Amino acid sequence: MLKRVYNFNAGPAVLPLPVLEEASRCVLEFSNLGMSILEISHRAKEFDPVMENSEKDLLHIMGLSGDDYKVLFLQGGASTQFCMIPMNFLSKDKTADYVHTGTWSKGAMKEAKLFGNVNIAASSEDKAFTYIPEKFNWSSDALYVHLTSNNTIEGTQYHEFPHIDNKPVMVDMSSDFLSKRVDFKQFDLIYAGAQKNIGPAGVTVVVFKKSLLEKCNKDIPTMLSYKTHVEKNSLYNTPPVFSIYVVSLVAKWIKEQGGLEGIEKVNNKKAELLYNVIDEMSDIYHPVVTDKKSRSNMNVVFRMASEDIEKKFVSKSKEAGLIGLKGHRSVGGLRASIYNAFPLEGIEVLVDFMKKFAKEI
Ligand code: PMP
Repeated sequence: MLKRVYNFNAGPAVLPLPVLEEASRCVLEFSNLGMSILEISHRAKEFDPVMENSEKDLLHIMGLSGDDYKVLFLQGGASTQFCMIPMNFLSKDKTADYVHTGTWSKGAMKEAKLFGNVNIAASSEDKAFTYIPEKFNWSSDALYVHLTSNNTIEGTQYHEFPHIDNKPVMVDMSSDFLSKRVDFKQFDLIYAGAQKNIGPAGVTVVVFKKSLLEKCNKDIPTMLSYKTHVEKNSLYNTPPVFSIYVVSLVAKWIKEQGGLEGIEKVNNKKAELLYNVIDEMSDIYHPVVTDKKSRSNMNVVFRMASEDIEKKFVSKSKEAGLIGLKGHRSVGGLRASIYNAFPLEGIEVLVDFMKKFAKEI
């Protein structure tokens, strides 16, 4: 019997066991070809349905039409989207609106500044990024708006998005993509590194509104132009075949869980259980995000009285089979990343562990 730990890593992260089982079979042989999924050509006719089905399933899950949106499977991580977006849509002396909610929005803004002006429409830096802003200063002439839907390091998440008219909205959903119901139609470009909620590292899913194509800058490098990937159906060059294949399995798994409605129900329950124990024992487990409506259901961050106690928490939890609870190296503390595939029972085990540990210190 395979012994699985409870994996709280922030990404790459836990994947559904049935997905891993199916993927492992295909690592030996794919589609009765006498070859592995790792060995087939990306232009093999047996690979076509993988691309087609994963696009179809992802659009279905999001409630989007293939007439309006194209799903792209790109490389270079979400970090490459930080530069592709401004390279394609911004230019010198023009402005884009960014909402600054943490480390990753900072990374996105840094790249945008290479191409044009950045207006920080709102920021939560005044309170160490512990909340999601509710007031925004949009600039009238911005070419687009950029949001980070879930702040993986700081543990905050939009539960309601600002209403934005007449401007394309680009959103980094790397750490909460397909974790809850969202009106995806309000966005023009959604991107997510797969390695948290929807697959392994190596592929970035970009959901691209086709009407944006006419706004794309020309004379930019071929590989960094959205036009290339839309026109060539993500097959301009060799795509990450195996990662796309696993994304297709995860999409199938999400549908089997009852789509986003089913996924959201379990995610809410998991987060509630964990936040409840943190709030109840806040003298020991200090919640970092005290503004409850800004709390992330994906990355739950908390601190303890000292770094020594936090270290002990990490090592004792590891002994109990709870892996990856150390906070991001830039902020310290503790973080439980509880993405879609993280099981409810793992939260119950963590909560029990926290209650026991509190008595021991
Ligand atoms: N945006 C967010 C919200 C992230 O959490 C991360 C990675 N943790 C990134 C962007 C960067 O992603 P990648 O490593 O795929 O470039």
